[in-house]
Amino acid sequence: MDQSADVKSIEKWIEELDQFNQTPGNGTTRPVYSKEDMEARGYIRDLMLSAGLTVNEDNMGNLFGSLPGTDQSLAPVWTGSHIDSVPNGGKYDGAAGVFAGIEALRMIRESGLPHKRNISVNVYSGEEMSRFGVCCIGSRALTGRLKPNDLKSHKEPAGKSLYQVLKDAGYRPDAFESEFPHKAPVYASLELHIEQNDVLEKAGCSVGVVTGICAPTNLIVDVYGVQSHAGGTGMTARRDAFMAAAEISLLLERLALESDSVYITGTVGEMSLEPNAANVIPGHVTFSIDIRSVALEDKDDLLEKLFAGMQEITERRKVCVEHTMMNHDKPVICDEHIAEIIRKSAADLGIPAMDIVSGPYHDSLILGDITKVGMIFVPSKDGLSHNKAEWTDTGDIAKGTDVLAKALFQLANEA
Ligand SMILES: [Zn+2]
Repeated sequence: MDQSADVKSIEKWIEELDQFNQTPGNGTTRPVYSKEDMEARGYIRDLMLSAGLTVNEDNMGNLFGSLPGTDQSLAPVWTGSHIDSVPNGGKYDGAAGVFAGIEALRMIRESGLPHKRNISVNVYSGEEMSRFGVCCIGSRALTGRLKPNDLKSHKEPAGKSLYQVLKDAGYRPDAFESEFPHKAPVYASLELHIEQNDVLEKAGCSVGVVTGICAPTNLIVDVYGVQSHAGGTGMTARRDAFMAAAEISLLLERLALESDSVYITGTVGEMSLEPNAANVIPGHVTFSIDIRSVALEDKDDLLEKLFAGMQEITERRKVCVEHTMMNHDKPVICDEHIAEIIRKSAADLGIPAMDIVSGPYHDSLILGDITKVGMIFVPSKDGLSHNKAEWTDTGDIAKGTDVLAKALFQLANEA
């Protein structure tokens, strides 16, 4: 293939998509199924159509832009990513992979070279967990991890269920079980994404070949103590829910630091205190725990120690603790055959590449349930992401796109 990615188009698309944004001038805010997200889908749909792709949308809002191959009896190759964002996030997270996919398919189409398998660039709905507390809504639904009942139980903090929000957005969530394409096989999935860390930047590599994707385990922890007067209750008489929560948080940090896992993280990102008043000892604290690793057994090991520690802390502090496991996802080891195709494509194009592990989760983690997956990373400046300062050189996205196109083309010609 002689075609190479057009940096100017990618740059323009990224800027244009960013007009669908609740917080212009203060990062990108595009919650899944919001007005801005729906408008952004319309924009992507038009772009897919003008790239000569056949466009389909399912009842979770997943978009599929397909380039037909010569043998319709073969399972398709997928690429793509997401377009929703966290509050005040960046404009490259997700979008880079969607545009890289559209551009790669344009290159393959314009090369005029035949490929056997259909290649589809997909937009997966709601990769970020910020609206409904569950990540990768679209890909979970595609793989059968999200059941119809879950649509009613997952709610946004304001109270609307995922089911209701889907209906309000014009989808038919009741139809989703019967129509889902997860029932049809997928040959391989290859997603391009920004790195969201600074490993590539530090190494001076434009392309990362992802070998494994860490998976999140998310818990909500409730600590119940006794609400009482900050002045009236002596230090030894307290049953302080916050101090217990703080001690559990520090234990989480220590366990993650002391773990001998190749890569493991522990985060407390949300906490609410009741009654949340300066002169009252909190009687109830709710907080989140997020644990990620490339090895499930390392997460299990950390969790076991955390639960044992929690028990000790709560008994000593005479408080009660309850936890709800929101998800306990299995990490994915990327397919070595796909990784090798990515390495070779980069080498052929003279693009410096290196193997890398993904700390953040991606739709590919979930798609690993139904197909073999690969990922291509492109550098994030200073490793920043989920931040308005998130920035990736479009030249690097274009290099990643060249590698993506070459690798997709090869996969689509495999028997
Ligand atoms: Zn992302």
